[in-house]
Amino acid sequence: MSHFSYQNGVLHADGAALPAIADQFGTPTYVYSKAALLENFGAYFDACKGRDALVCYAMKANSNLAILDLLGREGAGFDIVSGGELLRVIAAGGDPGKTIFSGIGKTVDEMTLALEKNILCFNVESIPELHRLNEVAAGMGKRAPVSLRVNPNVDAKTHPYIATGLKANKFGVAFDDALDTYRAAAALPNLDVVGIDCHIGSQLLDDAPLLEALDKLIELIDQLGSEGINLHHLDIGGGLGVDYGAEGDKPPVPVGTYLGRLFARIDAWRAEKHGGQPIKVIFEPGRSIVANTGVLLTRIEFLKPGVEKNFAIVDAAMNDLMRPTLYQAWMGVQPVAPRDGDKLIYDVVGPICESGDWLARERELAVEPGDLLAIMTAGAYGMTMASNYNTRGRAAEVIVDGEQVHLVRQRENPADLFALESLLK
Ligand SMILES: *Cc1c(COP(=O)(O)O)cnc(C)c1O
Repeated sequence: MSHFSYQNGVLHADGAALPAIADQFGTPTYVYSKAALLENFGAYFDACKGRDALVCYAMKANSNLAILDLLGREGAGFDIVSGGELLRVIAAGGDPGKTIFSGIGKTVDEMTLALEKNILCFNVESIPELHRLNEVAAGMGKRAPVSLRVNPNVDAKTHPYIATGLKANKFGVAFDDALDTYRAAAALPNLDVVGIDCHIGSQLLDDAPLLEALDKLIELIDQLGSEGINLHHLDIGGGLGVDYGAEGDKPPVPVGTYLGRLFARIDAWRAEKHGGQPIKVIFEPGRSIVANTGVLLTRIEFLKPGVEKNFAIVDAAMNDLMRPTLYQAWMGVQPVAPRDGDKLIYDVVGPICESGDWLARERELAVEPGDLLAIMTAGAYGMTMASNYNTRGRAAEVIVDGEQVHLVRQRENPADLFALESLLK
């Protein structure tokens, strides 16, 4: 169910009216629903019941500490892509022992920190990375648990910027090089080869490419087993899409359906080939956990009739929400208190000095200056991609719990933005 709905003609997040949130905390503000978050995570958790499985939330989608805390309490592990994200896991009380570290450019400092904190696994993406990790672990007198991120060369059929599993992408070890890379890893004294992973892309609406990737991983696991390299876990990555609500968009396969099909294949393989041996299954979902839990609440400053189009100029901008300009993403726009009257076609744009600063294009709206708009399905890759371009402080973030509204990140103060800068001596 949607946790953002009209009650008495006013858009609410669960039991909290958005105009009251705007009055109390100002705009632009990210508003998240706690119930939606728990529901989304619960869909994964329930589908994994009774199995050796771990859901590692890919926190680059939304890394607010309160969100990490809520998910950690539900049993989530974490998928991180930087040392900074590991520090967030720890600050939120999350378990480093349930944390996996992805990414192609891990520094010595990041590896050191992750080894100190005894993370669950490093998802390694190249031979030079294997050697660096082996050296860092040796220097600490430790062994690093590793998985290789294999690039299964399947077409995720998504936006080129978020397709990651093709040969032309910078990610992962090519499928044809995987066996040799595993042999190299197994020969290094301070590495423990424990798993295999992939992540083929984001905003996938169909699970066929994911199941195709699974088959390729299974093929490799069998080949490795015949060489005496036995893996303990299989990590299929994240990537499941969400319904952004654009006309004609098809809805994504439900989490339970996808996981059901995936587990069925794994069970069949284990019974037939893998000698019934257990294997832990890891997921790295980001978007499908948080996207529909949040909206970006913004106020119209001016309406500007143009020669060719009309503009609704709002107080949120591309620095707050980059998806439209970065991926030409379509985001839903809903008036918080819809009014009667003639609708006009507007581009919803921010005040930043870039023509790319738009949030939505060609939307039919009946609005007046001062009205509030909600940019829908903004809980993933919204705040985490925000910048301070134009010396704009980043938005506030609140989480709604029933009727209660909790501020979980203060609006940034412009003076803080240049506090680390200095004049020449
Ligand atoms: C971004 C990312 C994810 C999460 O992807 P979603 O599409 O948000 O589910 C998972 N794994 C890795 C390695 C990633 O980089």
